[in-house]
Amino acid sequence: MIAITILKNLRAPPLMNLVFANRKLSFYDTSSTPKTKEDNAKLHREQEQRNAEDVLFDMFASEETGLISMGKFLAGLKTTGIRRNDPRVRELMDNLKKVHKLNNYETGSSAETQHLNRETFKAVVAPNIVLIAKAFRQQFVIPDFTSFVKDIEDIYNRCKTNTLGKLADYIPQLARYNPDSWGLSICTIDGQRFSIGDVDVPFTLQSCSKPLTYAIALEKLGPKVVHSYVGQEPSGRNFNELVLDQNKKPHNPMINAGAILTCSLMNALVKPDMTSAEIFDYTMSWFKRLSGGEYIGFNNAVFLSEREAADRNYALGFYMRENKCFPKRTNLKEVMDFYFQCCSMETNCEAMSVIAASLANGGICPTTEEKVFRPEVIRDVLSIMHSCGTYDYSGQFAFKVGLPAKSGVSGGMMLVIPNVMGIFAWSPPLDHLGNTVRGLQFCEELVSMFNFHRYDNLKHLSNKKDPRKHRYETKGLSIVNLLFSAASGDVTALRRHRLSGMDITLADYDGRTALHLAASEGHLECVKFLLEQCHVPHNPKDRWGNLPVDEAENFGHCHVVEFLRSWAEKADQSSEECKPEAVTSKTQADEVSSSSNSSSSPGSSPGSSPGSSPCASLTTGDLLGHNSRNLYEMLKLNSNFTFQEICSTSDLETSPTTSPIPTPVESGSRAGSGRSSPVPSDAGSTASAGSSIDDKTKPGL
Ligand code: GLN
Repeated sequence: MIAITILKNLRAPPLMNLVFANRKLSFYDTSSTPKTKEDNAKLHREQEQRNAEDVLFDMFASEETGLISMGKFLAGLKTTGIRRNDPRVRELMDNLKKVHKLNNYETGSSAETQHLNRETFKAVVAPNIVLIAKAFRQQFVIPDFTSFVKDIEDIYNRCKTNTLGKLADYIPQLARYNPDSWGLSICTIDGQRFSIGDVDVPFTLQSCSKPLTYAIALEKLGPKVVHSYVGQEPSGRNFNELVLDQNKKPHNPMINAGAILTCSLMNALVKPDMTSAEIFDYTMSWFKRLSGGEYIGFNNAVFLSEREAADRNYALGFYMRENKCFPKRTNLKEVMDFYFQCCSMETNCEAMSVIAASLANGGICPTTEEKVFRPEVIRDVLSIMHSCGTYDYSGQFAFKVGLPAKSGVSGGMMLVIPNVMGIFAWSPPLDHLGNTVRGLQFCEELVSMFNFHRYDNLKHLSNKKDPRKHRYETKGLSIVNLLFSAASGDVTALRRHRLSGMDITLADYDGRTALHLAASEGHLECVKFLLEQCHVPHNPKDRWGNLPVDEAENFGHCHVVEFLRSWAEKADQSSEECKPEAVTSKTQADEVSSSSNSSSSPGSSPGSSPGSSPCASLTTGDLLGHNSRNLYEMLKLNSNFTFQEICSTSDLETSPTTSPIPTPVESGSRAGSGRSSPVPSDAGSTASAGSSIDDKTKPGL
């Protein structure tokens, strides 16, 4: 029975050809030769995609059955931050349902947990492969989303224990909130999602609607017109204070007076011909687009209560009318109603995090990729949020958190990390200034853990984490620089790399070290520096088995050949006399002393060692094992490498449910099969990734 099912799965379902006919054509029809550059580029892209699909399959497929578990695959995708209901993987999910149906629901217990063969899997993922490949290549703004999320959970849990603050009680609906409610949602500019706590519980937007209506007004009228009616200064007063600035304008669009004025601009200037009902729909549709179609509703009870308990807001309206703040044709009653309606729109943390992410993303919704606002509009909105978004705490918030935010009286806090992510925290208890207590604590803790504050230094070392950075980013770039210095004969640059503490024995994807490149280019000074000062091994093999001396010979650099040969001879002699010692890292002082001892004295240290002892035992085997792992990590994560390149770097069988990308230890633990270079038996734990150079049968990411 099992065998029958497997056989069935190994064949592509016959109807797949129909379902994915177009795709098949474009993949297998090679009859027409490309004529233009564009054709070539397209072909190249398609080739890459094909590789990506295969690599993904190999990464998750079971060796026993030759099938991929879609449950595991989707779980792996989730660890990158992409959810099954993301609109950008809709086709994938639809295809899964179609295949499940075509197979008479036999390929697993559900569409999302079925097991597929290679061809079917490739066809299923093809429409969304660009996003999926990006996810598994860790090319999103938060590459290691799983670790980031762990830290966020810790902060969330710490805030949960904070029971300070009081519920707003000016209307009964707010006073009835559960003070224990605490939800937090994150959406990055790449649409990576994370939510924890009460993230689906609906609440009203309240003041969090203010930056959004302001954005619509800016989009439609431009900043000149808008700011001829409303200022840009923090008021330094309560959010509903009866006060105007010295120009008799409301201070800014984030306080009640300013927001009521923005509503009047919508009525009188943006859509003067619309009825109140139409303006409401119109505004709601903007909010909805910003949220990528997630939950935006309306709470009529809150609206009625707001209108009932609005003495102060009416007073503000009349005061502004008295001071001629509104545009001509303003109907104050309609404007006030519209303001209350905006405050009474209902949403949840999930939807608001997408709205915040759209603001972080220059006005483009990350999940739908729809361009909702122009980037200039968003810049203006964020500027005002930065200086005026948290009521009378705005100055301190800008100082401590250094990010644009907007809080609301229902307990919401929208935080924007420009070009990175949007966060929405919701917890009803408020402090004496009207900001959510837990939300505020979250923002402050977030910024003390990560370097998200606008004025945190991103370049120099700090005690904060930078989740945007790849752990391997710097190393990858350093290797390129190191090899470039060697190839161009730049001894000074090599010296600089060495002094900065860099591992000079690192190799590139092909196993080529700085010594290979210096030798092949005939740079004797570099070769001498690398051997005499850096004590790199003289005999590392690249992926084709070539030694540096072979390179020098191939390119006719006799002086280098001579030097390397005599170095090797002396190395062989001395290695017989010495026992291995631990590898130690060298300091500048070591370099000076060792250069005075061993300069031009190859017999004293060659053969293998980066340590100060002439006999320290970093063999070629160690080198390749060690380097290939570093390199694998670098390549795996480097956006400039194709899947094909990455595939052949390492054997990556791992458990995709926990993490789709194996740790270095996991990849290294598949000990070196088929290696020719002499790996010491006890080096297995550190150098076994040597297999990754030779074993190219199993692709990975
Ligand atoms: N509905 C509230 C008001 O206008 C909104 C203010 C707020 O969220 N701080 O008073």
